[in-house]
Amino acid sequence: AKSRGRGSISWFQSGMVEDLVARFDVETALEKALQSDGFRLFLQPKIIADAPGRHFEVLLRLDHPERGIIGPGSFINVAEATGLIVPIGAWVLEESCRMLAENPDLHLAVNVSVRQFLREKFVDDLASLLDHHQFDPERLTLEMTESLMIANFDLALAQLRKIRALNIRLSIDDFGTGYSALVYLKQFPLNELKIDKTFIAGVPHDSSDTSLVELIITMAHHLGISVIAEGVETREQEAWLRNQGCEGLQGFLFSPPQPASYYLKP
Ligand code: C2E
Ligand code: CA
Ligand code: CA
Ligand code: CA
Repeated sequence: AKSRGRGSISWFQSGMVEDLVARFDVETALEKALQSDGFRLFLQPKIIADAPGRHFEVLLRLDHPERGIIGPGSFINVAEATGLIVPIGAWVLEESCRMLAENPDLHLAVNVSVRQFLREKFVDDLASLLDHHQFDPERLTLEMTESLMIANFDLALAQLRKIRALNIRLSIDDFGTGYSALVYLKQFPLNELKIDKTFIAGVPHDSSDTSLVELIITMAHHLGISVIAEGVETREQEAWLRNQGCEGLQGFLFSPPQPASYYLKP
């Protein structure tokens, strides 16, 4: 950029300043929300075959004083980069455990950032949550993405084993979008994997998506892992996925995420 002269340099720099200001703005909003009860939890139903009770994924929202309800797409990157994801994630888990203790038929899947999960203290925190809120730990599932787990294989494996020893369920989120390595599927003590919605979008008409989804379901079942399809939007997708033996379905076809109070009595 430098060889292009002063004009492009100052343009480039002012772009950086705007990015910094925007990021600072988000960071401030996150800090305020942490201090003043500004986060909300939304729930989206998971339709699970042959499983009793009500099953949901917990999805975080920021309730901004001027801008209203904001989805994680606009702030999760900043939360990760600043480390604020650690206290935010702790809040999500605490609230989720409270809902589980108050609603005996409830099952929740909570998204956990790998940055949060790889911390030594994470397992101790989970153990004290289970101690404090009494509920069957099998009613809690943690969803994590695969890429950073593989990059930190030994630590990830040790953490997963400890969490599984607490009887909390483990799920790999966005399966197929990261560096899906088959060895880890065999070694990690997983209960579930969620096929990313970008693959589900191609079902049943795109032949490569369809083959991939079939393959993932077959492979998971051979390993004793159950499969959830995310982003199910049509009856045609639903019928095809059920026919493939996919255990769980989630998507706008059934319901968008709704405020927790929509499903749970206060
Ligand atoms: P994700 O875990 O893959 O969650 C699924 C996303 O797909 C959600 O977006 C959900 O609203 C959306 N979705 C659900 N059904 C459909 C559908 O039929 N079609 C389409 N196109 N989309 C659908 P959302 O709520 O904006 O969350 C985005 C991401 O933010 C999540 O992706 C997850 O990675 C992250 N996230 C959400 N809550 C938390 C949290 O508490 N902690 C952490 N670390 N990450 C979170
Ligand atoms: Ca998820
Ligand atoms: Ca996902
Ligand atoms: Ca995702």
